[in-house]
Amino acid sequence: MRREFSLLLKASVVIFIAGVAWSATRMSPTPIEATAETPAAKPGQLLAGVARIDITGKGDLPPGDTLYAKALVLKQGDAMAVIVTVDAVAIGEIGPIRNDYLAKVRAGLTKDLGIAPERVMINASHCHGIVCADVDEKTIQVVKEAAKAMVPVRTGVGTGLENRVQENRRLKLKNGREADVRHAYSLPADDEVVGMGPIDPQVGILRLDKADGKTLAVVYNFACHPIMGLPGGGNTADYVGYASKTIENNLSDGALALFIQGCGGDINPLRYKDVNQPRDAEPLGNLLGLTVLKTLRSIVCTDDGRLTLLRQVMRLPRADNKERIEDLEQEQERLVKSLRGTTLNLKTFLPLVVKYQLDPNFPANYSHAYMSDKAAGRNNLEKLDEANRAAIKSYIDNILTMEQLTRLQTNLALLRRHQEAGLKAGTDTLDAEVLAWRIGNFVMVTFPGEVTVEIGLNIKKASPHKPTFVAGYTNGYLYYSPTAEQLKNIGGAQEDSDCRLAPAWQKLFEDQVAVMLSRL
Ligand SMILES: [Zn+2]
Repeated sequence: MRREFSLLLKASVVIFIAGVAWSATRMSPTPIEATAETPAAKPGQLLAGVARIDITGKGDLPPGDTLYAKALVLKQGDAMAVIVTVDAVAIGEIGPIRNDYLAKVRAGLTKDLGIAPERVMINASHCHGIVCADVDEKTIQVVKEAAKAMVPVRTGVGTGLENRVQENRRLKLKNGREADVRHAYSLPADDEVVGMGPIDPQVGILRLDKADGKTLAVVYNFACHPIMGLPGGGNTADYVGYASKTIENNLSDGALALFIQGCGGDINPLRYKDVNQPRDAEPLGNLLGLTVLKTLRSIVCTDDGRLTLLRQVMRLPRADNKERIEDLEQEQERLVKSLRGTTLNLKTFLPLVVKYQLDPNFPANYSHAYMSDKAAGRNNLEKLDEANRAAIKSYIDNILTMEQLTRLQTNLALLRRHQEAGLKAGTDTLDAEVLAWRIGNFVMVTFPGEVTVEIGLNIKKASPHKPTFVAGYTNGYLYYSPTAEQLKNIGGAQEDSDCRLAPAWQKLFEDQVAVMLSRL
């Protein structure tokens, strides 16, 4: 407790603004070279250009669909900003995108286009597909292509509602703990589950129209892990790829849809653990794409060309889970020791379970055999049933303990890895680059981690700007970023175990974001 307080105090005093608060009027990067196609802009007019590039990698996965990096370059007066979306799991740390990617792309864009590094935002959709090795060069290339194609645009904002494709993956259990829905381990028994966390059905949409009224780009923000996969298990951009394709195929030629992953840390695609039919991201993506298309029809674009970008590097408290790890090791030992010998093995257990489910009254034999027994004054079959039922229960108890161990050991391994990383780093804080930006009436906050949905909902609710949208997975990767409440469950689920942040991070982050939003 005392340690947590001192951490909080330390983190509070060292929060600093590393990037100056850049506003459109104060920024003066080297303007990019105007090409013959770039029409002259009126004062205050926002210019935008888009491009996409294939970044599909050749990994061990079977071929699937195309993974893209997409760029939206914005310019107003001398101020520029770049939004890049990549179909990748994260910007560094995990997956094929290396830790030097962000710095490399930013340096390339400063050198070639004169765009200040802090004005480049890169969001990973968090799909689990494999991207090409030269994704950094391809990203620089796609931004340059977008910058060459800038035209005057009008902006419009809208919100759609999509609740058919996602669910919260944290299950609330009878014992007050939480477990999460993963393929990495078994779920708790159904009768242990009493509820689940919330979702955010809001789809945030920015529409950019050209002077002729045709749509140039759609930026859409939605919170859900893109991990459904393809029926054949191929490399895929997941539902995000299908949603964007649905949108693009129904807009004017060349229009691009750019997906920005929201606070999807604890949000899964619906039926993620279905074992009865192949898991398929396509229908989910189509539903989301249609929701965006429907919403686009009601968005009216105006000349609001405001372009503002605030950047802050927040110093946040790092978790120290040494004691929690020791507790979990004890729990692990207790569970292993609780396994009891049973007369059954898998071969005898399975048919018995079927028999005792099929006919609970006369499971061991025909009904008349029980009658014969009774008529002769015996109850041997009933005694056999009693013994079998006890043996089935003991065997199931062992299985449930084993399932609990699969969860505990998987999460314990995550905790140990992050504890080790903390010791290696030799610091009790973590730096997180946070952006708050505005394009016309589109307001967004970004964070590098896998932010869980309640934090996104909190920021949206507290923001003075309606609507405000929130993105995780942006400009770096800080693992899962759950609420302080969720962090009371350390070791129980991925979001609280695959995490480097101490609980106090949430309030520090939300408070700082509120200040940033008030200045936007
Ligand atoms: Zn994730």
